[in-house]
Amino acid sequence: MSLVIVGTVAFDTIETPFGRVEKVIGGSGTYFSWAASNFHNDIKLVSIIGSDWPKEELAAMQQRGIDTRGIEIVEDGKSFFWAGRYHEDMNGRDTLTTDLNVLDDFDPDLPADYRNAEYLMLGNLTPEIQMQVISQMNADPKLIAMDTMNFWMDVAWDSLLKAIEQVDLLMINDEEARQLSGEYSLVNAAEKILTMGPSYLIIKKGEHGALLFGKEGIFVAPALPLAQIKDPTGAGDTFAGGLMGYLASSGDISFENMKRGIIKGSALASYCVEDFSLDRLRTVTDIELQERVNTFRDIVTF
Ligand code: AMP
Repeated sequence: MSLVIVGTVAFDTIETPFGRVEKVIGGSGTYFSWAASNFHNDIKLVSIIGSDWPKEELAAMQQRGIDTRGIEIVEDGKSFFWAGRYHEDMNGRDTLTTDLNVLDDFDPDLPADYRNAEYLMLGNLTPEIQMQVISQMNADPKLIAMDTMNFWMDVAWDSLLKAIEQVDLLMINDEEARQLSGEYSLVNAAEKILTMGPSYLIIKKGEHGALLFGKEGIFVAPALPLAQIKDPTGAGDTFAGGLMGYLASSGDISFENMKRGIIKGSALASYCVEDFSLDRLRTVTDIELQERVNTFRDIVTF
């Protein structure tokens, strides 16, 4: 079952207490698809890049089974660039630079065979673009998931609400859930957000894990206490990509299966943060992933 992913394919410059890397491979679409490709082999990526994005990176994606025909390449254009600096505790970060470059003219036009996908993951982009992609799908996908951020709540409230109305699963962090709902309690926030359109809500709490809310109840996933954290960039996208890849490969979107997917996504995210950029995600094996899933089981069973 095809999984269409829409997100940025970018260069990042990242500073953390553990070092600094310049113009490395990044972007939400990149993290989503690398993560999803651990579980699924029918992934179609939609994005836009300039001719400066390395051809060998596109080839590496294709080798992982990621279909890149949906990535528009703008000759002589520059790819999206983001620079961020993490705080000492690595929970917070400041954005230093956001150069939209080719993303400024992103006007996605999905290849014909992308439009029949059953699973759709919409990365954090303008709500208009997210809705434009939904409108290009031929039939109602089995599951539409969406990520967004507080910026769109500040500058595009009405269209954001329209986009949220059309999705099945919304993934945001705790601060965003509070802003979107106007409620401090995450339980009350979730109750309100679940009346806005989505059937499921995942509230990401960074190094404290994630919460899944649906009519079936609540599921609480911890984050693994890790010995090694170098760079949290892309952890949320890796989590979401892992979850969506797992759901698409199993074809089961029940609440019970979402719980399993959340643990798989969390296990992958725990590897993502161990090194800069995609470095650790490139080498993670199925056995390593299973080890982390087992650790999750061990630390929550009593
Ligand atoms: P995360 O750490 O999960 O928020 O994802 C970080 C990735 O998102 C980085 O690799 C960036 O290239 C990308 N990114 C940063 N800012 C934006 C933005 N405003 N819109 C889309 N993607 C972004």
